[in-house]
Amino acid sequence: MKILVTGGTGYIGSHAVEILMNSGHEVTVLDDCSTGHLDSLPPTVRFIQGSLLDPDLVVRALKGCEAVMHFAGKSLVGESVKKPDLYRQVNVAGTKVLLDGMNTLGIKKIVFSSSAATYGEPEKSPISEKAQCVPTNPYGETKLAIERDLSTAALTQHLAAISLRYFNVAGALKTQRGWLAERHEPETHLIPNALRATKESPLRIFGRDWNTPDRTCIRDYVHVVDLIDAHVKALNALVDSKHHIINIGSGTGYSVMQVVDAVSRVKNSELATVDAPRRAGDPAVLVADISKAEKLINWKPVKGLDEMVEDTFKAS
Ligand code: UDP
Repeated sequence: MKILVTGGTGYIGSHAVEILMNSGHEVTVLDDCSTGHLDSLPPTVRFIQGSLLDPDLVVRALKGCEAVMHFAGKSLVGESVKKPDLYRQVNVAGTKVLLDGMNTLGIKKIVFSSSAATYGEPEKSPISEKAQCVPTNPYGETKLAIERDLSTAALTQHLAAISLRYFNVAGALKTQRGWLAERHEPETHLIPNALRATKESPLRIFGRDWNTPDRTCIRDYVHVVDLIDAHVKALNALVDSKHHIINIGSGTGYSVMQVVDAVSRVKNSELATVDAPRRAGDPAVLVADISKAEKLINWKPVKGLDEMVEDTFKAS
C-alpha cells in the first residue's frame, strides 16, 4: 500500500517507516524535522520536508497515497502548558489541513497517534476507552480535539479512522543502519533517564508517598515494535466510515521501583537513585484496559518490560 507517514523522523514515526517499508509498503514521509532526526530514515524513502500547516505541500505529499499514519505533532506535556497556542496550531490546525487535503484527494484511511493524556486522571483502573476524558494539560486537550475532528470527518467525508491512545512507549528496533534510538532533548521519560543515571547524577524518583504497593507511581509500558504492530493491524482494519478509539498499552502496570529493578538487572549494577518531590500533574496509577484492541484489531503486545529496557539500553 502507498502510505503517507507524517512525523516519520521522530522516535515512533521512524519505527513505523522502517517496519512498513520492510513489509513492502511504499512510504512517503512528511516532516518538518523540528524535533525528529533525518538520519533515522532509510535512504530509499520518499521524503518531503515541511510543515503540515502548508496546504499545498500537504496535498503534494498525499498525492498517490491510499492511507495516512499521522504521527506529526508537538508532544511535550510541560512545553504545552507554557505554549498552548503553539500546540493548538501545530497539532489541531495541522491535522485539519491534513484532513482537508485527504478530502480533496479522496483518501479515506487514517491511523492517528493519540495519547492516554486524553483521559487526564481517571479514577478507575484499568482505563477503558469509555472512561471520561478530562485532559489535565494542553497536549492532552489537542489530542482530544483531533479525535473529535476525526469523528466529524468520518461523518462528513466518509473517513475510516482509528485513533490509538498510547500509554508509555519504550524500547527500540535494530535496523541495518543501527538502532533507532529514542532521542528526546530534554529527556523526561523514566526508562531512558534511568539508563542514563550515574552515581554523580542519580535517577530522581518523583514521590515515594503514593497510594500504591511500593509507594511509587505505576504506569503501563508498551514496546515501540508492538505499538507499530498495532498501527499496521489498525490500518488493515480500516474498512468502514467510522472513527474508532483504541487503547494501546500492555494492560499491566509497573511501578517506578519495578522499572528501577529492571534497569539494574539489564545493566547488571545497582541503579543510583535519589528521592525527589512528586512531579506536578502525575497521577498515581495509569494502566490501560486493552481488551478493545484485541477485539477490534486482533492485537496483543508480546514484548515485556525487560525487553523494553534492554532494547532502549542497546539503542542508547
Ligand atoms: N519518573 C521518575 N523519574 C524520572 C522520570 C519519570 O520518577 O526521571 C516517574 C514519573 O513521575 C512517572 C513515571 O516515572 O510516575 C513515568 O514517567 P514518564 O515521564 O516516563 O511518563 P508519563 O507517565 O509521565 O507519561
